[in-house]
Amino acid sequence: MLFSQDIGIDLGTSNTLICVRNKGILIREPSVVAVAVGSGEKRVVAVGNEAKEMIGRTPGSIVAVRPIKDGVIADFGTTAEMLRLERKAVHDAAVSAGARYVSLIEEPMAAAIGAGVSVTEPKGSMIVDIGGGTTEVAVISLGDIVSSRSIRVAGDMFDDSIVQYIRKTYNVLIGERTAEELKITIGSAAPYEGEGAIDVRGRGLIDGLPKNIEVTSEDIRLALTDPVSQIVENVRLTLEKTPPELAADIMDSGILLTGGGALLRGIDRLLTEKTGMPAHVAEEPTDCVVTGTAICLNRDILNLRRKPEK
Ligand code: ADP
Ligand code: MG
Repeated sequence: MLFSQDIGIDLGTSNTLICVRNKGILIREPSVVAVAVGSGEKRVVAVGNEAKEMIGRTPGSIVAVRPIKDGVIADFGTTAEMLRLERKAVHDAAVSAGARYVSLIEEPMAAAIGAGVSVTEPKGSMIVDIGGGTTEVAVISLGDIVSSRSIRVAGDMFDDSIVQYIRKTYNVLIGERTAEELKITIGSAAPYEGEGAIDVRGRGLIDGLPKNIEVTSEDIRLALTDPVSQIVENVRLTLEKTPPELAADIMDSGILLTGGGALLRGIDRLLTEKTGMPAHVAEEPTDCVVTGTAICLNRDILNLRRKPEK
């Protein structure tokens, strides 16, 4: 009874997910806030999907901000406002949203639990969570993080690299939303069956006029070569520093990929090839962290409730 209002929040750079005990995931919205900046005073005009639609399309008086940068809260006021609005929705759906205890759980740990890893066993597992701002690589055993690395190379950097590549190759400037769309629809880390091409519109850099170009899967793969290899390199470095017993466990169970970036086609295959360890994408990779927080609250796997913070 005491814990019937448990809420798990995954405050990601790209997406915020909120789940309520026994009710599942109730909120799944981009971590974007649109703010009106007229007359020196800030006013939130939209959050989530509605605000994301506005990125790159706002008039001077409205800015679409992503208050969480590189996995860290860069703008507290706006983040609080975003959560306040989102919590209102949770509030309506749940009995009451007044959280009694606040416990923090490390993201890779939550991701591992959400992905179904038995984290408390004396057995090593490796999680690679590729989010929007950061990629977290962690080795877990006995309910603890044995080693971890975090790099600021993830989905946003992929989009950025696509923008740069299109600019250099086609002399056309595209927006970050278009880049993300290209990544999701035809992007990959390794060649795949059924590769395609899509037409996109950008601004010609020479005459400044709108221009249509055809972009192929291969273009996107080339654009992503550098950031993807940085992720691979970090996994390799982490493996190198992993004690042999744990490395042997990982060889058995494989590297588990979570986060939206894990949905990039072929990234599991590429990691397997480059590290010699089998890599698998978790089921519902974007939900693992918030699902993990929910599981922790329900079963109190890590004794989080013994350490309430005010
Ligand atoms: P965060 O936890 O930082 O909020 P997420 O785990 O929600 O991030 O992942 C967001 C990232 O995943 C974004 O960069 C988004 O473009 C990317 N992403 C989502 N779906 C796909 C897909 N199908 N292919 C490649 N990248 C994807
Ligand atoms: Mg995340």
